[in-house]
Amino acid sequence: MTKTVDIVIVGGGIVGSSIAYHLTNQGCRNVLVLEREAHQGLGSTGKSMGGVRAQFATKVNIQMSLYSIPFLAGFEELTGYPSGYRPQGYLFVANSTSQLEYLRAIHARQAEVGFEGAELLEPEEVLRIVPQLRGDDVVGGSYCSTDGFVDPYSVMNGFTARAVEWGARIEKGVEVTAILRDEAGVVGVETTRGRVQTRTIVNAAGAWAAQVARMAGVPLPVEPLRRMLVPTEPFPLIAHQAPMTIDMATGFHFRPEGLGLLLAWNDPEEKPGFKTAFDSAFVEKILMCAVQRVPCFEDLQVNPARGWAGLYEMTPDHHAILGPVPQVPGLFLANGFSGHGVMHSPATGKILADLILDGRSSLADTHALGIERFAEGRLIEETVVL
Ligand SMILES: Cc1cc2nc3c(=O)[nH]c(=O)nc-3n(C[C@H](O)[C@H](O)[C@H](O)COP(=O)(O)OP(=O)(O)OC[C@H]3O[C@@H](n4cnc5c(N)ncnc54)[C@H](O)[C@@H]3O)c2cc1C
Repeated sequence: MTKTVDIVIVGGGIVGSSIAYHLTNQGCRNVLVLEREAHQGLGSTGKSMGGVRAQFATKVNIQMSLYSIPFLAGFEELTGYPSGYRPQGYLFVANSTSQLEYLRAIHARQAEVGFEGAELLEPEEVLRIVPQLRGDDVVGGSYCSTDGFVDPYSVMNGFTARAVEWGARIEKGVEVTAILRDEAGVVGVETTRGRVQTRTIVNAAGAWAAQVARMAGVPLPVEPLRRMLVPTEPFPLIAHQAPMTIDMATGFHFRPEGLGLLLAWNDPEEKPGFKTAFDSAFVEKILMCAVQRVPCFEDLQVNPARGWAGLYEMTPDHHAILGPVPQVPGLFLANGFSGHGVMHSPATGKILADLILDGRSSLADTHALGIERFAEGRLIEETVVL
């Protein structure tokens, strides 16, 4: 029998879960999340490094963090479930005057948006926070103590559990295969378990978002890009309380994870595509960057079999695409987070719930994030992409 619901959310990762949470929190209970995998978190959410930060260069990304970070800090009071938030900070390490100039410029931008949490540091202050850094070329840095990390699985599960307690439903192992339309807009979805009638569909399909948008005839500029993470064996030389530390020269960054560290680096040779196999040759490349910035990393032990890969969902301007599709009434997008989907999941859920239920959101400049920006040539430049 065909079901009828108010809202279908395609994709049960952290973004779809947050949207379900915020919709039910705002009184819309007849929400159905469809996830094609047998379990949630098998997309990018379960592969993430869990970093959260407000140190961005654009107004709209800062606005999204200013909602999201306090939300993640208070997640347990809000949802009844833990988020694993650890406010250990993000430390950006500059080793050229242009990088320092850049940090100064983004501080000014943050102040314009009313965010004063980050501080510019002298070289000796940078080295006081992480004394193991190579210091001779450090010219300064930037640190924000409320930045840090969360456990993406816990956040996704908390959002889902609370949304379900408030009336939403989630069906796993169900793939959306078609979006059905009439002249007035969307009317439902076809799935591997039959048809669902609805007047509102949210595309929260992560790296597969362009495929889902295509079902409605919408070209969506979201491309999958492999990212690899390398956990190390226990490494007591770096404090368990150390921040996410970013070498601005190479983009190499690391944070404590268990008794060891989690290493990340954006390999410039990586090409877009649905590749999720970990390439063990990456270990040597990342360790070269690592040792350059932290000499004692020469003693790091890495078992390549423990590395993993997942997909970033990249847009041409490295900003999310949020909101309605003007030419397809009833179709909404929550896509293209370009590496920030975990940290911005709370703001995304709130913005989508506001736009669907009220037609507007005061949380951030949602006009800037609309899909129309590509056709209208209004791309936003974000340069702090990790
Ligand atoms: C290695 C790595 C490190 C990262 N580090 C960070 C970080 O430090 N901080 C941060 O904020 N972000 C980080 N990210 C990015 C972040 O993980 C993603 O932006 C975020 O998880 C996106 O969430 P999502 O729910 O949109 O996508 P996903 O978690 O991928 O969920 C989308 C879901 O849609 C489902 N789906 C797709 N098509 C269909 C269909 N047709 N029918 C039904 N279901 C469908 C998929 O099965 C999937 O479960 C990282 C990503 C990677 C890969």
